[in-house]
Amino acid sequence: MNPPDLKNIRIFQKLGNVDTKSMAACDQLLLVLPKKPSVKHFKQLPQGKKLQQILRASAPGSTPALRSRLSNQKQTLVVAGLLTKDSSAFEQLTLGRQLVQAACSEKAGSLGISVIGFADDEQATIFNNILAATLAAAFQLPTFKTKPAKAVIKSVRLLGVAAKLDTSRTEAEAKGNNLARWLTTMPPNKMDAVDYADLAKTLAKSHAWSYTRFDVKALQELGAGAFLAVAQGNDNDSASIVRIRYRPGNKNATADLGLVGKGIIFDTGGTNLKPFQSMLDMHGDMQGSAVALGTLLAISELQLPIAVDCWLALTENRTGPNAYKSQDVVTAANGKTIQTVHTDAEGRMALADALVLASRDKPALLFDYATLTGTCVSAITTHYSGVFTNRVDLHPWLKRTGQNCGERVWPFPIGEEFMHALKSDTADFMQCSPKGAGDHILAASFLSEFVENDTPWVHMDLSAGDNEGGLGHVASKFTGFGVRYTMSVILDEDLFKATD
Ligand SMILES: [Zn+2]
Repeated sequence: MNPPDLKNIRIFQKLGNVDTKSMAACDQLLLVLPKKPSVKHFKQLPQGKKLQQILRASAPGSTPALRSRLSNQKQTLVVAGLLTKDSSAFEQLTLGRQLVQAACSEKAGSLGISVIGFADDEQATIFNNILAATLAAAFQLPTFKTKPAKAVIKSVRLLGVAAKLDTSRTEAEAKGNNLARWLTTMPPNKMDAVDYADLAKTLAKSHAWSYTRFDVKALQELGAGAFLAVAQGNDNDSASIVRIRYRPGNKNATADLGLVGKGIIFDTGGTNLKPFQSMLDMHGDMQGSAVALGTLLAISELQLPIAVDCWLALTENRTGPNAYKSQDVVTAANGKTIQTVHTDAEGRMALADALVLASRDKPALLFDYATLTGTCVSAITTHYSGVFTNRVDLHPWLKRTGQNCGERVWPFPIGEEFMHALKSDTADFMQCSPKGAGDHILAASFLSEFVENDTPWVHMDLSAGDNEGGLGHVASKFTGFGVRYTMSVILDEDLFKATD
């Protein structure tokens, strides 16, 4: 199975003033201005006086703050948004999404972006954040319609940039996020666990990553009984754990970073079957693995000098005569025994063995991503994702990273005291508590039992992976949340210092 076309649209830059000619090349213009724009700001724009008058007449507080057509050949549609001087990354990304949606709902083509009235470094950040929204909107998610209906953005022009902008990071993150959303959106009958593994293999080949697929037989030999308990419900042996290695330098280097993702291709709940509404979007239950793979792609696109291992735990969670059930006892790859309670808590079973395998290689930092629990959504909504770690000192660092990059997270406690709720009479511990309170905390505490070698580890429960109407720069329901976050961990924070 082939990956999607991940090539971004063409990006043009025009330094200096915004002139009539460059504006005339745009079908739409996204204009970002300070909260109270002055005459001076509008003077920097062709037909600025007219735009200022329209803004004055527009309802205050609305987005877009103004909407108008220029009198030029293309009748360029201008939509403007206002930002305070100290706006957050999340606010900038959200404005980007809203402006792109307002501008491109009917027609698209060549889209201009102009940011006026900010200091040079702030202007550069805003440009990149609005560009991030544009690249997300320009990407075609899987569609099987006989007549594609969507307007397509063909190119983007950054007008009036103070100095040549470096957009390479935004472009790499867009590719990673777009891949993650594409995989998550794929209908479950169009991409099964084997297709997914094949697609990862194709990507690995074209990016010179090394690829290993641990199939059911190999996992039996590794004693990965927790993962296999979930996989045994499949009526074929499509399940596998895939390991992909990115080694820009020494091929034998141990990983600086391990990325592990939950890849439940479709989650019926298993023997404890989900009801209709809860099962409806369960093709998205592999988003964690898609985020791990998307992050690896972004790292590789930027050729970052770090060694990365990416682990994808791929299976379905099905019903059937062979499916696992409550009160089974299974043994994970690290020898720990688990009393199963609820077959719909399959994510932590699949991840347990993937974490054992990933942490055995002693990466400097291990991240896992999973659409894991409903209680995480109840606790912090779908606007934030939950984070959990075996290094409590990382909490402020994790939060700050989210604020800086616009994919916001909130830390929760884990540990020994919560394991009491998982006390079992027949095994080392239960898979989950029959009571269900604080399941996100119990799930993360459970997972920590499978992190070997005291590896510094962060678990992200992707409550923000599925947000109706989009989130931040992304307009689709599946948000690919986590790619941008992890890139910020690597590039904006000193990853290795933090975990010393
Ligand atoms: Zn489930």
